[in-house]
Amino acid sequence: MAFVITSACENEKAGECIETCPVDCIVEDQLQMYIDPDVCIDCGACEAVCPVEAIYPEDEVPENEQKYIQINRDFFKSRS
Ligand code: SF4
Repeated sequence: MAFVITSACENEKAGECIETCPVDCIVEDQLQMYIDPDVCIDCGACEAVCPVEAIYPEDEVPENEQKYIQINRDFFKSRS
């Protein structure tokens, strides 16, 4: 499992999560931040510091934000 960044990050991109992640698996583009699910160690540190509560454990992503599980995954697929 991994943590997932959802729509609240769009146009917000506060950035505390990137500083906090111990394994450097959070990357940003023009739109939002993304978590690499293959590298995330599930520590929860990013969730705790996000000021807009955009980050959830994968199994707790709200129903209307479910598509972000794939959006985070696809972001890293397209980079490899
Ligand atoms: Fe990084 Fe931990 Fe957040 Fe995963 S849960 S993205 S390892 S800070």
